[in-house]
Amino acid sequence: MTEWKAPDPVRLHASLRPGALACVDLSSGRRWTYAELNDAVNRAAFVLSDIYQVARGERIAAVARNSADFIILQQAAMRLGVIFVPINWRLSMTEQEQILLDCKPSFVFGDAVSQVSIKGARTLATADFVTAVAQAKPKAARPTISADSPAVLLYTSGTSGRPKGVMLSARNMFATAVNFGVLGEVSQESVFLCDTPMFHVIGLVTSIQAPFLQGATVLISGGFDPVATNDRLADAAFAVTHYFCVPQMADALRKAENFHPEQWASLKALFTGGAPNPPANIRWWLDRNVLMVDGYGMSEAGTLLGMPLDRAIIAEKAGSVGLPPPDMSLRIVADNGLDAEAGEVGEVLVCGPNVSAGYWACPDENARAFTDDGWLKTGDLAKADADGYVTVVDRRKDLFISGGENVYPAEVEAALMEHPGVKEAAVVGIPDERWGEVGCAYIVLHDGAIASAVDLAAHCSALIARFKVPKEFVLIDALPRNGAGKILKRELRRLALGKDPEPDRIG
Ligand code: ATP
Ligand code: MG
Repeated sequence: MTEWKAPDPVRLHASLRPGALACVDLSSGRRWTYAELNDAVNRAAFVLSDIYQVARGERIAAVARNSADFIILQQAAMRLGVIFVPINWRLSMTEQEQILLDCKPSFVFGDAVSQVSIKGARTLATADFVTAVAQAKPKAARPTISADSPAVLLYTSGTSGRPKGVMLSARNMFATAVNFGVLGEVSQESVFLCDTPMFHVIGLVTSIQAPFLQGATVLISGGFDPVATNDRLADAAFAVTHYFCVPQMADALRKAENFHPEQWASLKALFTGGAPNPPANIRWWLDRNVLMVDGYGMSEAGTLLGMPLDRAIIAEKAGSVGLPPPDMSLRIVADNGLDAEAGEVGEVLVCGPNVSAGYWACPDENARAFTDDGWLKTGDLAKADADGYVTVVDRRKDLFISGGENVYPAEVEAALMEHPGVKEAAVVGIPDERWGEVGCAYIVLHDGAIASAVDLAAHCSALIARFKVPKEFVLIDALPRNGAGKILKRELRRLALGKDPEPDRIG
């Protein structure tokens, strides 16, 4: 079979629309047209291959905040067949070191936030790389890179265990760009504001490769700041059309003093993903004329499902992550191994050009994650309604069984979040003599709010079946979260089992 050459949208648009604005680095104010970006990527490729002597197949890691230089480095690596490894700078030194030992890069690029160093890897300040790029000659040679060789190692968030290095090829990222392009109505006129970290799939793949594919513009901020983002969304000069965030960021936006969603004139949609977004929350935004569009994605496969924009307005569908995109196959498989009926819960399995070939150096994990015929078992449970709209139910690992009935904590959490005093809620299953397992809810209350266990149980009983209502409610100052901001259920389970000091139980 002939190898498919890796797609290179930046190079394509440098010839199709050289003067179109490709990206703006909001921290420095620097701007690049597609012609300029292409030139910068060529120079960076020259620095990597001819000055730093990085060869095809080697890894280079980046432990740095979002910037246009980060993307130039990633694009240059992709042109050379060098594997780019973006690392979450919020991880502890030990966690960062574990990742570096796993992928063994020849270079680690870092800015002020990075202090890691490992044996065998040279550490370079991003600033020195930028200077070298400015002085470099653009690289003339254009090696042919296979679309299927790994281009990026994207470490998962480590919510259910240790982060795993997902190998993403140019073809995988291109497929996500195509898929999201259709679901999110991306065009040449689109302007993406990218606040989400580029060491995650939303930041690196969906927010960057999707606009580049269309020759659109990306505004890159150094990180999320709710006040700055509110200003930028309201600024007619930026005319932002696409904004991605996790539900927690959307909450921070609405609590900022300069929150004026009526001024977000060009915004097509506020896209959320990465964690459950309760329907009540989505409806809150719809009531304020902001189209909040929830999508389901993962490091292993980019954007898997997304609500088409013209359907996201339907309030009854709030809470659904929508329909599968064009270039991907999805199955929901019930416990009996058959495709689930409408409304029946099963595990999400996917295959298609967007799906990674597997995890870096993890043969056991790969054997577990893929079926013999190549479908990725996501470990997530979902159900589809009669129209095919999918709702993510929960991670399989978080499900518990009470009196023989399945309880999906995300549903219980969504009910708790509808209580006016509840700011955050997380539910885990704990052993119970009578029922096998029961729910234990960890609650963060809004400042000054009061809620008793009886109140909370009564509130839940009005919304969900009795067997789902938690039997214990525990007040906590903050939920344990990982470097990606996701709630760590495994830590709450430890806490519930008394393996850590006990916080206050609500009487
Ligand atoms: P790890 O794989 O290391 O445990 P992780 O799964 O959190 O970490 P990511 O790849 O960043 O790492 O996150 C993908 C996961 O996030 C999905 O598998 C799913 O569990 C969850 N997720 C993504 N989007 C949604 C959504 N819209 N609603 C609910 N959950 C979501
Ligand atoms: Mg995962």
